[in-house]
Amino acid sequence: MKDQLSLEDDIDTVRLRAAWSRVLTRLQGEAPPTWFERFLKPLRPLEVRGGVVGVECPGTFVHDWVKRKYLMALDKMLSDEMGAELKIELAIASRGDHDPIAQDPKPSAVTPQVAEPSFAPCNRYTFDTFVVGQSNRMAHAGAIAVADQPGRQFNPLFIYGGSGLGKTHLLHAIAQSVLQRDPKFKIVYVTAQEFAERFIEALRGQRIEAFRREQRNVQMWLVDDIQFIAGKDKTVEEVFHTFNHLYQQGKQIVLAGDRPPRELHLVDERLRSRFEAGLVADIQPPDTETRSAILINKAGAEAIELETSVAMYLAEQVPGNIRVLEGCLTKFAAIGGIEGRALDLELARELVERYYRHTSRTPSCEDIFRAVADLTQIPAETIKSKKRKAEIVRARQVSVYLIREVRGDSWTTIGDQFEMDHTSMMYAYQKVTSDMAQDAELREKVSRILRDLRPEQ
Ligand code: ADP
Ligand code: MG
Repeated sequence: MKDQLSLEDDIDTVRLRAAWSRVLTRLQGEAPPTWFERFLKPLRPLEVRGGVVGVECPGTFVHDWVKRKYLMALDKMLSDEMGAELKIELAIASRGDHDPIAQDPKPSAVTPQVAEPSFAPCNRYTFDTFVVGQSNRMAHAGAIAVADQPGRQFNPLFIYGGSGLGKTHLLHAIAQSVLQRDPKFKIVYVTAQEFAERFIEALRGQRIEAFRREQRNVQMWLVDDIQFIAGKDKTVEEVFHTFNHLYQQGKQIVLAGDRPPRELHLVDERLRSRFEAGLVADIQPPDTETRSAILINKAGAEAIELETSVAMYLAEQVPGNIRVLEGCLTKFAAIGGIEGRALDLELARELVERYYRHTSRTPSCEDIFRAVADLTQIPAETIKSKKRKAEIVRARQVSVYLIREVRGDSWTTIGDQFEMDHTSMMYAYQKVTSDMAQDAELREKVSRILRDLRPEQ
């Protein structure tokens, strides 16, 4: 991939590269460093065409590993960053045969040792770059207190809020600030999904003691996307024991997730009350002023000249979370650069017309049932019924998945659509999520419906 942009590069490629580099920044903070360096950093985005992004891997080895471990996450992150539902297709670079990584036969290269790599927070995510407003004031204050005096005031700190509202940013900022004061402070940052995966791998490889040492021999334990433990009973139990171990020793614990502890629906209520024992702080979608301030800050950091009036306009018109808003700024600067135009109100209006005009209305449940009915040829009424025929059950599960993804409704609210309880809804959602990891056809169907529901994104 060329590093210099030229005018021949079409706008999608420019956006793709910018989005890819943001995805890498996020991954750098979230994936274990050894995985990042070896498997993720060498990937090269090539082009985007018809909703498919070609990504080149240096060899078959990396190709297979990424496909197995990270493809879904990459699809999702890149779609987030590009503001469109995209699917990644991995290709192997032609020089792959000569690539040392491709030929590395040692299994140790596939399964990095459980021994803990120290956590290096993403340097974009600091308290300095975090804009505080009404919507995130309490979470921010909690994070500052925890960073200043770990284990003293709020233990645990539980931060929850919708996607793209700054939870991961705050976790990294805490770590950053602590490490600045004391570079030797031992911090583990782990996403719940990663915790679950590594726990299972450790069990399988009989390295459970090493895994426990890695998670427990720390002064601060940061767990992101905690909602992923719901329904994984063995993992929940391990989290519970890790939590207790650290808590009893007064070690600081910070958890972040997309919903409050009571909505995690943990089978074991003890864990829920542990999670609620310190400070539970939410992050709400920011108001227009905060959104403008975030845009202006971000523009400043990237040396993009953005007038306040233009920032205000974009903050008002571009719907969605802060990640979408950041994506919009990148798009804006890229279009300005390519077309050689000033970043003024006129260009902002065109951008909004072109990309964001229809996105403000969230599809209703009825829209979603209709879309699933169109694709499966099963009438909406049948999908909502209690019929147990396999394809009807599947259509029902997919509807649950889509309602949750598109509308973010609570499990109970979704359950009302089907007159079923919240646990059935969570199960349906998890079933579709895990089946999609294996089943390309299902994945394609789901993303087609998502595209139909949000064609302009
Ligand atoms: P979450 O973990 O809640 O899904 P992230 O922490 O990944 O969200 O935030 C998404 C993006 O928005 C990141 O690039 C982050 O830096 C930015 N962001 C979120 N909240 C703020 C804020 N208050 N000020 C500045 N940037 C923010
Ligand atoms: Mg996050």
